Amino acid sequence: MTIVIHWFRRDLRLQDNTALSAAARDAGGAVIPVFVLDNDLLRGADIAPARVHFMLDCLRELDATLRRHGSRLIVLRGNPAVELVRLVQRTGAEAVYFNRDYTPTALRRDARVTQTLQQAGVDVQTFKDSVIFEPSELRTGDGQPYTVFTPYKRAWLNRLSLGGRADAQPIDAPRLSALPPSWADIGLSALPTASELGFHVEQELPAGGESEGLRRLSHFKNSGALQAYAAQRDFPAIEGTSRLSPYLRFGAISPRQCFATAVSTLQREFPSKHSFSPAASDTKKEGADAWISELIWREFYAQILYHFPHANTGNYRREYDGLEWGSGNPTLDEIRFNAWRDGRTGYPIVDAAMRQLRQTGWMHNRARMIVASFLTKDLLLDWRLGERHFMQQLVDGDPASNNGGWQWAAGTGTDAQPYFRIFNPRLQSERFDPEGAFIRRWLPELERVPLEYLHAPHTMPALVQAQSGCTIGSDYPAPIVDHAVQKEESIRRFSEIAKKAKPSTR
Ligand SMILES: Cc1cc2nc3c(=O)[nH]c(=O)nc-3n(C[C@H](O)[C@H](O)[C@H](O)COP(=O)(O)OP(=O)(O)OC[C@H]3O[C@@H](n4cnc5c(N)ncnc54)[C@H](O)[C@@H]3O)c2cc1C
Repeated sequence: MTIVIHWFRRDLRLQDNTALSAAARDAGGAVIPVFVLDNDLLRGADIAPARVHFMLDCLRELDATLRRHGSRLIVLRGNPAVELVRLVQRTGAEAVYFNRDYTPTALRRDARVTQTLQQAGVDVQTFKDSVIFEPSELRTGDGQPYTVFTPYKRAWLNRLSLGGRADAQPIDAPRLSALPPSWADIGLSALPTASELGFHVEQELPAGGESEGLRRLSHFKNSGALQAYAAQRDFPAIEGTSRLSPYLRFGAISPRQCFATAVSTLQREFPSKHSFSPAASDTKKEGADAWISELIWREFYAQILYHFPHANTGNYRREYDGLEWGSGNPTLDEIRFNAWRDGRTGYPIVDAAMRQLRQTGWMHNRARMIVASFLTKDLLLDWRLGERHFMQQLVDGDPASNNGGWQWAAGTGTDAQPYFRIFNPRLQSERFDPEGAFIRRWLPELERVPLEYLHAPHTMPALVQAQSGCTIGSDYPAPIVDHAVQKEESIRRFSEIAKKAKPSTR
């Protein structure tokens, strides 16, 4: 009998798991499900206690589900290459299967693990799973990677309609055999908690796990939020988005399950009209259509980081390496960064968003764009400072999407917003939080401030400050910078470099 190890990583689910199903098929069910708590990753500078906690939740549920099927999750701790070879020797497994991960760090690790296993005579098989189309599957006519979203999306949808439907089809959970009782002592005796691993978790986090991911996906559809997505997605006070990002990040649900849900909505509501032609998708912005675009953004950023790994630590557009960051006074820059981090900038929409991040490990996409623009264009601070802070806080922190989002906002990325289009935090606030519900939710000190002053509380007359119990300068800060002045300085710095840069249209 062939025994195959399935190495779980960013695919913490049983349903629609490509490598797991292949392992079950090839081994007739004799699969050893294993997860390795990788010491290098746990000690990494970008680790977030919130993500460790969420991941352990997912693992706990995965183990419980496997046990219901008569199997169990073997949890090892250490270096994956060493631990997997040891597991092969102990169990007599002939092969290790896993789903591919495209980030630079994961690619390096996987190359090392594969080499070690192959040298030990073990067959290694890897599979596409975390995306519908892999970075190598979509290329421009001249064989180059796409660097602009719209043509990438067009190519993605074209590929889907031209024979790629199977790539987007979810598959059922496989049948797995029970592990022999003689292996009962393999692995940790119990899954550790985040605090046992040395992480102090302060945020109120969503429950992790496959069943919760699936429940949220059907709620998103059944509540009508998916259908209303295009109209509601930009308003942070509304529960208008799916909140599925941590589940997609850890593979508690798959992009195919999300895509199939969106498609079933489109087919039911627009049975004859929707053909997945790029033109149809560009012109009709129904909710499910707009949501599919976001799933494609996720794959767009995954392929950018794969093809341009220098963007992991540096500007995608290298010409911006010469850009001057900061005020010239490191102490002032530190004070400003801390004010941004703590939600004390005097710009309520920025502060509300940063407090949402601190308290929940998640932030609404519109708010992410606003705070990233504020850090890089109003405080003139290096986007990498914000990127790292997000990675250390976000429950959905994903190297490719986070890097892509930050470089987009900073204007240093592939498909960046033009450097001269700088978000005005007050106008963003008035437009996307018109009733001030998001601000009041996260900034209790502004709760009684009248709406006419809520987006710019420093303009409140002294009497109104007294009536609303919010004195500017003590209860809530005055703006730490003047947006108009900072905007001009940002444009000056960027335009000097942009003059020499060539636009990309791929
Ligand atoms: C500065 C910045 C940093 C970001 N960092 C991350 C990150 O670390 N991890 C992360 O998953 N997303 C990141 N995003 C993208 C986006 O903000 C989140 O994916 C989204 O807010 C998650 O909420 P949701 O699940 O309700 O999304 P929905 O609106 O319901 O979208 C569904 C899914 O599509 C994907 N998605 C949506 N928008 C984007 C986008 N702009 N780019 C890439 N994928 C997207 C996500 O997987 C999301 O769960 C970042 C955006 C910015 C501007």
